[in-house]
Amino acid sequence: MKRCQPYIDGQFVVSKTTEMIPVTNPATGEIISEIPECTIEETRQAIEAAESAQASWAKLPAIERAGYLHKIAQKIRENFHHLVRVISEEQGKIISLAEAEVNFTADYMDYMAEWARRYEGEIIPSDRPNEHILLFKVPIGVIGGVLPWNFPFLLIARKMAPALVTGNTIVIKPSEETPNNAFEFAKLAAEAGLPAGVFNVVYGRGGVVGKELASNPKIGMISFTGSVDTGSKIMAAAAKNITKVSLELGGKAPAIVMDDADIELAVRSIKASRVINSGQACNCAERIYVHEKIAEQFIAEISVAMSSTKYGDPLIETDLEMGPLINEQGLAKVESLVASAVAAGAKVETGGKRASRDKGYFYEPTVLTNLSHDMEIMHKEIFGPVLLIMTFKDLDEAIALANDSEYGLTSSIYTQNLDIAMRACKEIKFGETYVNRENFEAIQGFHAGMRKSGIGGADGKHGLEEYLQTHIVYIQYDMSKK
Ligand code: NAD
Repeated sequence: MKRCQPYIDGQFVVSKTTEMIPVTNPATGEIISEIPECTIEETRQAIEAAESAQASWAKLPAIERAGYLHKIAQKIRENFHHLVRVISEEQGKIISLAEAEVNFTADYMDYMAEWARRYEGEIIPSDRPNEHILLFKVPIGVIGGVLPWNFPFLLIARKMAPALVTGNTIVIKPSEETPNNAFEFAKLAAEAGLPAGVFNVVYGRGGVVGKELASNPKIGMISFTGSVDTGSKIMAAAAKNITKVSLELGGKAPAIVMDDADIELAVRSIKASRVINSGQACNCAERIYVHEKIAEQFIAEISVAMSSTKYGDPLIETDLEMGPLINEQGLAKVESLVASAVAAGAKVETGGKRASRDKGYFYEPTVLTNLSHDMEIMHKEIFGPVLLIMTFKDLDEAIALANDSEYGLTSSIYTQNLDIAMRACKEIKFGETYVNRENFEAIQGFHAGMRKSGIGGADGKHGLEEYLQTHIVYIQYDMSKK
């Protein structure tokens, strides 16, 4: 049985624990590997290794730090096919999406490395004579990175690359569901010669390892991606030491389809967004608000598109659009949300049940109509291939419905009228809005949610700056001295 080893202080170590967590292929239910439940002591060792390495890492010129990131990117590309298989096997991702994730991760490493010569401090005029005010951008110190399972490989880079190029060190805890790719990432970091302690990986339960990362006083920032419930626990744990938090949490993305929309484009984009990663992406369109004038045509066409989705086991079947859900718990959650909506009067246009396959955690691509906004399903993140469709009379109503959510991550609008698009962009209270397309976000953009979707954000210049703090220096000098 393959066992992932923690990577602490530049070494793959044998955990002292006897408790193992099995890792499952969600397409088959078979156990493919196991991870040790690292102890609090081992988590602390990783944090201490990161702390010891940080000062000398930060002293390196940024361009040298960037060199390591480029080397890892290169190694990711050299191991492309192996990594694609590892990600697909443990997460259930279809091959083309796993390929996109691996490529995007390598590009992400290179992109963040390129900031080495670009991030800047400031010189500010003083109110006093003979004084300079210098604002330095300095690393925070040790970063704790706690990851979800849905884009597990990319999320390592999304945290470690901006952290490392700016002079921080990091301890990563991957999800219990998808640790294998983190083990592979650590191997590549070791092969790239990354100095010991700069990048560490520990495995285990969120309530133990994750909690220790969030509450340890040596952690300067906890960078978390995952659910709102866990984000709230992390914030509470971090509060003890006033540790900075960066939280990328869930979503409940609305898509507004106006009566002048290119319907074929809207159907194609929304369907693709809803089945990508089996509906398990924080920025997938979940709530569709369609103008009543075109609702009949839109519902008919998207129901056909959803019901024709080809799904199956990504490692065996080809030309798939969708794989399984991550586990039985995820499947049961989708099942129960749909069941309670149907009990309250929702109409199933297509799907609406577990797929009839003898193994794996598959749910049929589903379209529900006849919904009302007070239903639980309109507010809870589904994280499965279920589209909810409601109609509206005018833009004001559509925007009000879209904004009626405690989430505020991604949103979209389909229209050919620039004035309508611009008004929607102004009035939709979400961190991201796409006009005439769905996800995904750009490396150079800024991925951040409003309300319960998070605090802070990732990607681009502003994502990089999350990993920096400011140090201001006032320099008084005497002009009379020669
Ligand atoms: P999760 O919150 O269940 O787990 C995420 C991580 O937190 C895991 O590593 C887990 O072990 C750890 N954890 C659990 N309890 C903890 C605790 N008490 N203290 C510290 N760590 C703890 O989320 P998930 O099911 O892995 O991921 C799905 C969620 O992630 C969805 O809500 C999705 O929307 C969100 N997500 C958001 C983004 C974004 O960019 N906003 C991206 C991907 C996923």
